[in-house]
Amino acid sequence: MESIFNLKYDDLVDYFLSIGEKKFKADQVFRWIYEKRVYDFSQMSNISKELQEKLKEHFDISMLTLRTKQESKDTNKYLFELADGNTIEAVLMKHDYGNSVCVSSQVGCNMGCSFCESGRLKKVRDLEASEIVRQILMIDDESDTRVSSVVVMGIGEPFDNYNNVMNFIRIINDDRGIKIGARHITVSTSGLVPMIDKYGDENIQTNLAISLHAPNNELRSKLMKVNKAYPIEQVIDAIKRYIDKTNRRVTIEYLLLDKVNDTTECAIELSELLRGLNVYVNLIPYNETSHIEYKKSNNERVMNFYDVLKKHGINVTVRRRFGSEIDAACGQLRAKEVN
Ligand code: SAH
Ligand code: SF4
Repeated sequence: MESIFNLKYDDLVDYFLSIGEKKFKADQVFRWIYEKRVYDFSQMSNISKELQEKLKEHFDISMLTLRTKQESKDTNKYLFELADGNTIEAVLMKHDYGNSVCVSSQVGCNMGCSFCESGRLKKVRDLEASEIVRQILMIDDESDTRVSSVVVMGIGEPFDNYNNVMNFIRIINDDRGIKIGARHITVSTSGLVPMIDKYGDENIQTNLAISLHAPNNELRSKLMKVNKAYPIEQVIDAIKRYIDKTNRRVTIEYLLLDKVNDTTECAIELSELLRGLNVYVNLIPYNETSHIEYKKSNNERVMNFYDVLKKHGINVTVRRRFGSEIDAACGQLRAKEVN
C-alpha cells in the first residue's frame, strides 16, 4: 500500500478527483496530517465515514518506528526503523534561532567516500519521499519547538535519489503543511554534475551545498571516488552554472582531515579554485570513527586553514561540532547497529 506521506498536495488533489470527490478534500486531509498531526483517517471528523474507509483501503498512514534516541545538550540523534526493517538516522540540532533537522535520503550510500561510515556500508535502497517526510514529523512531534530548518545531509547521496528528494522538499515546503521555507532547506551533494544542473532548474529558493573536501583532482579522487566520474573542474563549472541560473550563494563543505587536506598549500589552492565565486566555505571538523583511519585536525590546524582562506578573501566559517559525543556524524549510529 502506498504511504500517504508520499503525496504532494497536487497528487492528493489528483487522487480525490480520480475517485469523483471534490478538490477541497485534499486540502482537508493535507491539513489533518501536516497541521494537526492526526495520523488516523477515522479521526478526520470532516471526512465522511465512507471516504475514510476508502482512504484506509488505499493509503498507509503509519509512522516510522523509533529504535533508539541519543540525547545531549544541543543534539538529539534518532535511529528509525522502516517498514522493511532497515534502519536510518536523523539528527536534531538545537540552535538559539530554532531547530534544524538533518535527514537521511538513502539506506547506505554507493559513493564510497573513504572517510564516511555511510559509504563504507553501501546502498541498500533509496528512501521514498514518505520515509524522509516522516523523519521530520517524528522529530517535530516529539520535540518542544518546531523544526525551522532542514538539511539533507544524513545517510545517502540525495542526488542519487533525486525525484524522491525533490518530492520530499515540495511536501515539507507546502504552505498548507509543515511550511518549512525554501531558504531554510539545504541539499548536500558529493557533486553529481548532471543533477546539480537539474536542481538549478527547479525554480525553488532552496540551498545547495557541495562536499568538496579537496582542492585538486589527485587528492579528491583519493577521498571521493565520485571525483573520477565528475572531476573537480566539472563540479566548479556546474556550481557556476547553478549560481548564474539561481543567483543563490552555494556552500562548499570542506572536511578537515589531519595532515591529509588541511595544509597551508591546500588552503591556498582552495582559495584559488574558488576565487570570484559566490560561495562560502564551511570547514567541518572530522568526527573520528573506529572503522576508519583518518584523524581530525587539531584546533591550530583548523584555525590556520581558516586564516589562509580569510586572507585570500574567501568567506569561511567553522562548523560548530554538534553531538560529536553521540556519534552524530553521517551514518555513525547506524554503522554501530549494523555491525
Ligand atoms: N552524500 C551527501 C550528503 C550526506 S554526507 C554528501 O556527501 O554531501 C553529509 C556531509 O557529512 C558530507 O559533507 C560528508 O563529507 C560529511 N561527513 C561524512 N562523514 C563524516 C564524518 N565522519 N565527520 C564529519 N563529517 C562527515
Ligand atoms: Fe555518501 Fe556523502 Fe558519505 Fe560520500 S560523504 S559516502 S556521498 S553519504
